[in-house]
Amino acid sequence: MHEDNIKQLKVLEDEIRKCNLCPLRQYRKNAVPGEGAYNSKIMFIGEAPGEEEDKQGRPFVGKAGQVLNEILKEVGIKREEVFITNVVKCRPPHNREPNDEESNTCIKNYLEKQIELIKPSLIVLLGNVAIKYVLKLNEPSKIRGKKYIKNNTIYFPTYHPAVALYNPKMKDALLKDFKTILSIYNEIKNKKINLPDFF
Ligand code: SF4
Repeated sequence: MHEDNIKQLKVLEDEIRKCNLCPLRQYRKNAVPGEGAYNSKIMFIGEAPGEEEDKQGRPFVGKAGQVLNEILKEVGIKREEVFITNVVKCRPPHNREPNDEESNTCIKNYLEKQIELIKPSLIVLLGNVAIKYVLKLNEPSKIRGKKYIKNNTIYFPTYHPAVALYNPKMKDALLKDFKTILSIYNEIKNKKINLPDFF
């Protein structure tokens, strides 16, 4: 990865930590820009930081993060080799869903730039909020579990790991999707998918 892109990503993270662009600024202890490998071919995008993420300033470090860690481990993807972030970088009050204004402002100013600089070939969308706002779709559940191609990037919409906290059976559904994600990721890493040909 070009050094200039790394510098720009770090500048973006500093801007996120001080950001005042939407009403969520007033509720946060810490903004959560995201973390992981800047040169990763795979990016995971969730909904928003929760209580623990807000405390630590890191993504997916609470209970849903434990589920994500377990599933990544079960399929054999190292957390440190991926990049993980959210649609909005600040915690909404009482963990409510981020609204249109908050989501669109944060995506336009930060998430889109992170995607542009990291250039992942595969973006995993964790849950309906990520699917709806990143892909601009009104019926996110219809495309879950299938590859979705847009702007030279493969998107894979799946469930948010938090679903397994309320319904343990959902962990199997997540695991099934993550096995598909692993096989797409391996094809990309082994250059079996030539993206320009693919589109
Ligand atoms: S959620 Fe995003 S746009 Fe809103 S204050 Fe936080 S960083 Fe800024």
